[in-house]
Amino acid sequence: MPWLTRGLREGIVTTRYPHRPDGYGASFAGHVVCEPGALGAEAEAAAAACPTGAIEVGRTGARLDQGRCVLCGRCCQVAPRWFRLRPGFETAALSREALVVPESAADRRAIAQAREELRQRVRALRRSVHLRHVDAGSDGSEEWEIAALTGPIYDVQRLGIFFTASPRHADVLLVTGVGTAAMRGPLRLTYEAMPAPKAVVAVGTDAISGGLAGGTYASGTGVASVVPVDVLVPGSPPSPFSVLHGILLAVGLVGERQREQLPGKSRSEEVAG
Ligand code: SF4
Repeated sequence: MPWLTRGLREGIVTTRYPHRPDGYGASFAGHVVCEPGALGAEAEAAAAACPTGAIEVGRTGARLDQGRCVLCGRCCQVAPRWFRLRPGFETAALSREALVVPESAADRRAIAQAREELRQRVRALRRSVHLRHVDAGSDGSEEWEIAALTGPIYDVQRLGIFFTASPRHADVLLVTGVGTAAMRGPLRLTYEAMPAPKAVVAVGTDAISGGLAGGTYASGTGVASVVPVDVLVPGSPPSPFSVLHGILLAVGLVGERQREQLPGKSRSEEVAG
């Protein structure tokens, strides 16, 4: 019975997140951040090196769209002064604007409004949540991370989170993939079959913006044009911890991560409500 001795030796492996911080989750590659005022040849070279066009250099500095970033790390190599890969997993956001860094004051207002609207809508879902997952043209990587959620490390059932095969029983729709032409109809039908209140979580950069594979004759640039997305989980793929954070964010059980620095604001300013 090697499994018995191994179990006794390793003890409880299940994470305590979100009740306690998790050091294992904090070691994942989280997101790339861009320093305010990133200008010059280095910033331009980083934008040119980005395979998904996630970096735009404007008059006052570069802005980086984490919803298009596939975490390849090229910009961090080309312009380490301006771009850095930050570890962690609380990367999900409540609006598309929140994924563009450094954020502006207008973004901050849009984020606050999105947070309040979602909070009002999903108030009834906090005790038990049923998830329906739809693959709308994924490369399969997000599915591996979602499948891990039911394993012993993450064990989402301990939080009252369950997967269901029927949209009629679902509260939260998890969507992966670029939103292929063939999957647009089934995805829309699944969403319409879910009872209210409901929330939609776009899992992965492909589902948010199309990533590397979007924008072809057969694929869209994310799923937001098909179903109304409430929470966006960037990453290619995002870690299971990031997906879990997105689900908990959708039902109001955790807040957003600390946002990037604004001029005159502390980096530790907490935006979460
Ligand atoms: S890490 Fe992200 S932003 Fe940087 S080059 Fe790669 S895809 Fe572009």
